[in-house]
Amino acid sequence: MSVLVTGGAGYIGSVTVEQLIQAGEQVVVFDNLSQGHKKAVHPNATLVEGDLSDRTVIDAVFAEHNIDAVIHFAARSLVGQSMECPFLYLGDNVTNGLNLLESMTDHGVKKFILSSTANLFDDPENIPIDETERIVPGSPYGESKYILERMLYWLEKTQGLKYAALRYFNAAGASERFGENHDPETHLIPIVLQVALGQRDHIPIFGDDYETVDGTCVRDYVHVVDLAQAHILALNALGQGSRTYNLGSGQGFSVKQVIEAARKITGHPIPTEMGPKRPGDVATLIASSDKIRNELGWKTKYDDLHTIIETAWNWHKAHPNGYED
Ligand code: UDP
Repeated sequence: MSVLVTGGAGYIGSVTVEQLIQAGEQVVVFDNLSQGHKKAVHPNATLVEGDLSDRTVIDAVFAEHNIDAVIHFAARSLVGQSMECPFLYLGDNVTNGLNLLESMTDHGVKKFILSSTANLFDDPENIPIDETERIVPGSPYGESKYILERMLYWLEKTQGLKYAALRYFNAAGASERFGENHDPETHLIPIVLQVALGQRDHIPIFGDDYETVDGTCVRDYVHVVDLAQAHILALNALGQGSRTYNLGSGQGFSVKQVIEAARKITGHPIPTEMGPKRPGDVATLIASSDKIRNELGWKTKYDDLHTIIETAWNWHKAHPNGYED
């Protein structure tokens, strides 16, 4: 199969490309490298540098490569930024996704996997959160992904598109070769590890009066290689119909618990500083992934937070300056 991976130079994209190639698939990566890195593109993948805002470039990719399926990672993905710059999300994320969907439809490509998000669940009635939970996007970022999910629903009805919407909880960890490198970095685990590497003085904690075990936000950290595997399973199952899955480990850890685990792994004291809440954050997000486990036999290889952070730590030690090394 030949798979077009938008955002394949980014964090989850690069690891998914690696897994696709290991599974014997042909991969074309489409990335504007605004957040991704050339060095994060697997050498056996073909890289096309381009922007999804440009329909002619996307059309050219479909015309030139015999694409069977699309996995769409390329998007802005920061909850906090989306509260400050909503149009980057309600605008760019949505129109770029629409361009891609229109172009692939025009070229007869009928298989699509969307990177969706746990930020659809701002006010969950039940935890762990399964796929029947009501949708309440928590930010313009979450809303942009929900709009794309709705487009997929209608394109299935009207165009015969087969899709999977995969709602990630918190991607974490690294493969041996590919890891998390954003600039600026905003995510908890890489920042904590930058403190351990001596690149920052402390980690700010965004609020400690949430209704959680210790007042800090609880998240479900799922290993990026396990997430990548879920994409491959979903891709191979599209022939049997469209589907939507929540992807997490089913366990929640508070910000303080993550920091404590990182102290044990790195041996660094990792100083903290209490700060205000980050707009758009939800107190607790834990996934129920029973549906994908039952339907597709998804098994997570990395089941405990310690191992997940350890794989990230190994990558960060080997790449202290990210892909700039
Ligand atoms: N967080 C924090 N300090 C930081 C970065 C993140 O306290 O410097 C918190 C954040 O408020 C959230 C959790 O850590 O509750 C995970 O945040 P991250 O940005 O990694 O992922 P998100 O949950 O936004 O997808």
